[in-house]
Amino acid sequence: MATDPEQAASFEEQQTQELADYDEEDQYDQDQDETQQNNEAQNESNPKGSYATLSSSSFKDFMLKKELMRAIGDAGFEHPSEVQHSAIPKAILGQDMIVQAKSGMGKTAVFVLATLAQVQAENKVVDTLVLCHTREMASQIFGEFERFSKYMPDVKVAVVFGGVPYKVSAEQLRDGAHIVIGTPGRVKHLLEGQPRLNQAPALVLSGLKRFIIDECDNMLDQIDMRKQVQDIFKQTPHTKQVMMFSATISDSSKAVCRKFTKNAQEIFVDDKQLTLHGLQQHFVKLTEREKNRKLTDLLDALDFNQVVIFVNTKRRAQSLNQLLQTCAFPSVSVDGGMPQPKRLELFKAFKEYKHRILVSTNLFGRGVDIERVNIVINYDMPQSSDEYLHRVGRAGRFGTKGLAITFQATPEGAEVMKQVQERFKVKVTPLPNEIQSSDYM
Ligand code: AMP
Repeated sequence: MATDPEQAASFEEQQTQELADYDEEDQYDQDQDETQQNNEAQNESNPKGSYATLSSSSFKDFMLKKELMRAIGDAGFEHPSEVQHSAIPKAILGQDMIVQAKSGMGKTAVFVLATLAQVQAENKVVDTLVLCHTREMASQIFGEFERFSKYMPDVKVAVVFGGVPYKVSAEQLRDGAHIVIGTPGRVKHLLEGQPRLNQAPALVLSGLKRFIIDECDNMLDQIDMRKQVQDIFKQTPHTKQVMMFSATISDSSKAVCRKFTKNAQEIFVDDKQLTLHGLQQHFVKLTEREKNRKLTDLLDALDFNQVVIFVNTKRRAQSLNQLLQTCAFPSVSVDGGMPQPKRLELFKAFKEYKHRILVSTNLFGRGVDIERVNIVINYDMPQSSDEYLHRVGRAGRFGTKGLAITFQATPEGAEVMKQVQERFKVKVTPLPNEIQSSDYM
């Protein structure tokens, strides 16, 4: 029977016990509002791996305004990445886009730069709406807009998401924002206003020029979220630029994406090319009971800056975090059930390197960009090859090295690993007894 780690008598015992059983399905605990890669010689001036960029190509080729070029320089971006090279020229001309890009290879900058290149900040009209699936992603994207618009003082950017009082989001919009980033539930709510309180909509999209969806497959595959996105879409003008992005876009997602776009420029990557080359990937075959011991051994033996450990439910995230803390590992955990301010605070603190070990549900399985994460451990097996790709992509961001270790305790897990290797043409090998930290750091 599953045991509560809190009640276990000693480290020894805890390490050989199982976490509470799978009892909560929080696969989709991504925000639904209230309702719901190897650079051998690291380039000194560029902290990220330079192989990730196309050194023959330059941001100057995009003819961006000088305010943007200055901010790009300040960000330390020297050359555009492949997806930036192929998508930015079309995107800044206002063309609809459906873009698939390797995890962590700079897709955010595609839509941020394309938007800032075109935004008209004269009026108090919302020019661009960006929808994303979690509150943390919304904050992260907001941060990127702030970073690249720093020399464009007239451009106002707002971020709105659930889990905070409606009033707080409405206030963000009161003085007129040109770019709004939000999660679908809260955006919909703001468009509706508070009729019972006689409050008019806080958000009006009648003058919208750009509609952007990040992690589009995830947003549109979930029926509830798709419905919210559709409802929002209906409140925008017919003529606008629509851009959609993700690392994984299945054929069925493509078909849905196409319904939102007109003559979109489509940039799709063969699944086999989605592999992150700087990322070493291994698996460990073990039993459920052996996971805790293996995990603590790995955390003891491996060097890392930051590590993210993925589990499949909220309860398992909390239990594993408690267990790690009891074993003197300074871990933190995050899941969709945590109060919003705490979640954001934790996300920020982890991004700022104040914590080194994070236990997470799929909540941080997609999109979140934390530069110093060099190890991802799948304590629980992801439920699909897509989910695996997104999770392991949290390490090895933008061409840096990384290590992904997946615990394989069930036949279903073995099947997922088989699919991963076939689909992405990647070799996931048994974890060797010794790994040189220089191979992944
Ligand atoms: P993203 O895939 O958008 O989450 O970006 C992953 C990381 O790569 C972020 O930390 C970006 O700041 C960084 N990045 C994006 N484009 C570039 C570039 N051209 N040069 C260097 N770093 C970049």
